Amino acid sequence: MTVAIKVRSAIERSSWIRRMFEEGAALIAEYGAENVYDFTLGNPSVEPPAAFHRELRRIVEQPDIGMHRYMNNAGYEETRAAVAKRIAGDSGSPVDASHIIMTCGAGGALNVTLKTILNPGEEVILLTPFFVEYKFYVDNHGGVSTEVWTDRETFQPDIDAIEVAITDNTRALIINSPNNPTGAVYSAETLEALGAMLERKQAELGQNIFVISDEPYARLAFDGNSVPPVFKYIRNSILVTSHSKDLALPGERIGYLAANPAMDEVSLFMAGAVFCNRVLGFVNAPALMQRLVAVLQEESVDIDEYQEKRDVLYSHLTGLGFTMAKPGGGFYFFPKSPIADDVEFVRQAQKYNILLVPGSGFGAPGYFRIAYCVDMDIIKRSLPAWEKLAKEMGL
Ligand code: PLP
Repeated sequence: MTVAIKVRSAIERSSWIRRMFEEGAALIAEYGAENVYDFTLGNPSVEPPAAFHRELRRIVEQPDIGMHRYMNNAGYEETRAAVAKRIAGDSGSPVDASHIIMTCGAGGALNVTLKTILNPGEEVILLTPFFVEYKFYVDNHGGVSTEVWTDRETFQPDIDAIEVAITDNTRALIINSPNNPTGAVYSAETLEALGAMLERKQAELGQNIFVISDEPYARLAFDGNSVPPVFKYIRNSILVTSHSKDLALPGERIGYLAANPAMDEVSLFMAGAVFCNRVLGFVNAPALMQRLVAVLQEESVDIDEYQEKRDVLYSHLTGLGFTMAKPGGGFYFFPKSPIADDVEFVRQAQKYNILLVPGSGFGAPGYFRIAYCVDMDIIKRSLPAWEKLAKEMGL
């Protein structure tokens, strides 16, 4: 046998997603990319901010001796200090460079964190609908996922349902705000209630329950709002994130994890996480990108551009009768499928050259995801196709 049983089963279970992508690619080949409305991928449509290109040129034109060599596995001190300053400013927590590890994206930070804390068979709570990689990441480190639904209208965490799911084997909870796939931003009240419930459960069970707050969309918050800082509300928390979305650099694999200074045994956690960054084979985050993001902590892509896309699509689709929560950030909608079978709905949408991902791909049948990180031109040209689709669905 060439491939391990678990991997083979994962490939087989996701074969329908691959088939859909292949069908989408066939549509693009037949009609041309400009006539196919591809809302499947969370790949930023915008370019990195001008400051990124300016700093990249500066660094390349004035190379320092040793700038491409190995470094401390946690990353450059100056980069970690710059990241810490930004988080401390946002949260009011006394975060410094010792609480930061630069990682290969948010995906790297999640894997480092899970490997650091999980013993075999320990449970990690995921909030449905969820970014599907979480299940694989938990499994990578011998953990077991427990799925708990968020509120089915607002997609805010259901604190009572989470409490019910906690056992004496629960080690962590992954939260994600702004959320992929729903666009929900968790309110300060929700985080506060979650923090209070977890303090009570940790005391009752005599064990740590960590909140891993996955925040790659944190700076893409709309309507002048900002995402409430998790460190302020949840003591045993780890922030994992990247510059994949806020600086539009997903291909460059640059992110970080930050431990809440108030966490139990924070120095031990950091020592473990530095070790895990090394032995997972990441060794350290890309050196050139670390030097860049050290001076770009106050920069971000144009958020207004995403907000405008949200507004155009939201008013058009709700006007047609689609039901969805209005996203507070990120670049996804998660409407209800007009028919019970979300995979069939996505097939129907393909007839009008609209490419979507069924909610089943996020543990949530009966919904579908629209990734609106595409050119405004595509969004505007897709509007008549949405009208035809709504009519066919009887909306
Ligand atoms: N977490 C969520 C919720 C995401 O949507 C993504 C990427 O789309 C990631 C993590 C992974 O981010 P990165 O590319 O920085 O590893």
